[in-house]
Amino acid sequence: MPLQFVSETDPAVAGILSAELARQRSSIELIASENFTSRAVMEAVGSVLTNKYAEGYPGKRYYGGCEKVDAVEDLARSRACELYGCAFANVQPHSGAQANFGAYTALIELGDTVLGMSLDQGGHLTHGSPVNFSGKYYRFVAYGVDPETEVIDYDEVLRIAKEVRPRLVVAGASAYPRAIDFERMAGIAHEVGASFMVDMAHIAGLVAAGAHQSPLPFADLVTSTSHKTLRGPRGGFILTNNEELAKKVDRAVFPGAQGGPLMHAIAGKAVAFGEALLPEYAAYIGRVVENAARLGQGMADGGLRLVSGGTDNHLCLVDLTPADVTGKDAEKVLEEAGLTVNKNTIPNEPRSPFVTSGIRVGSAAATTRGLTADEFYQVGGLIAAAVFNAGDEALLKGVAGTVQAITERHPLYPEMG
Ligand SMILES: *Cc1c(COP(=O)(O)O)cnc(C)c1O
Repeated sequence: MPLQFVSETDPAVAGILSAELARQRSSIELIASENFTSRAVMEAVGSVLTNKYAEGYPGKRYYGGCEKVDAVEDLARSRACELYGCAFANVQPHSGAQANFGAYTALIELGDTVLGMSLDQGGHLTHGSPVNFSGKYYRFVAYGVDPETEVIDYDEVLRIAKEVRPRLVVAGASAYPRAIDFERMAGIAHEVGASFMVDMAHIAGLVAAGAHQSPLPFADLVTSTSHKTLRGPRGGFILTNNEELAKKVDRAVFPGAQGGPLMHAIAGKAVAFGEALLPEYAAYIGRVVENAARLGQGMADGGLRLVSGGTDNHLCLVDLTPADVTGKDAEKVLEEAGLTVNKNTIPNEPRSPFVTSGIRVGSAAATTRGLTADEFYQVGGLIAAAVFNAGDEALLKGVAGTVQAITERHPLYPEMG
């Protein structure tokens, strides 16, 4: 029973933790940025390392007693380098956003022009949103997808790059179902004399397993989260092969942006990198990619439209226009049926980002849980049925029943009691 202590001292928090476990167990998690870590990762994150201050880097700390945490940070760094085939890793960023803060600080100056993917076509908050530091501190210009194919139009990216002459080109996305040609993007950056950075937060697990082209041979810096397809603890990291840049990144993260590193999270990252180096992990990612395709097929066969016509990775972006329902309403109807998704803008979105015409669904978490390819196809059909019949209580009840049966076939953290 993992809640032995908190349930004794703090029933209020313990009750919330138990309720969240029950929620995760009783729904099918399709949020593309989520996953279920191993118990080993959780043990590391819940360990005594949360007690330790370790400002600085291994061997150069501002506090005593850091020998043990030095060992774990060295392990995390060397495993990250082995996993991605690179020379330097900084595993201290508290999150993906912090990793991007560190990378921008290392690469460019305040006010510089940056070319990044349009937020409403798949980019991320930290790629120039006006409400985020990125949009306030730098001059972001957006590229997007071709309105017909809904795939990145590299010729158009080059055209914009030649026009705005950015100091930095950023590739990577939060809601883009297709493979990204990092070599091509690097060529564009170099043609206009810009640095090139890849934010692989979503596809870090696919890159680790060889299921997506690696950005490492092409990018000056690569940033990532550790908690999405990679299946580690919540956090960020930065990779590079450039020794000068590695030094700048280290200074940008600490003391530039953060104080003491979260050593318990770094231990969790070490465990997750170790897991991702095992052959089982590559097999898992193979299933993630296959299952995303089957999920998409189920939705398409049910009458929904997949943006760009399909998926190359772990997620599908779904245009709900055929069902005449908004992303906001679909998210709610699906949640009531036990299917957790998020509303999402689609290319050429006619509605506001709070309403949207689409949803984003991913296969990473439910694949960890053990759902089969056939079950993913079935879930795709359930999503379509629910959104096409959003007012039909009896039908939605049927969907909820099927979802419950699937979750019961694949117990989540069964040993947690
Ligand atoms: C999720 C994500 C991030 C941010 O990660 P947080 O840990 O939520 O800060 C950054 N970039 C991309 C592309 C992402 O998808």
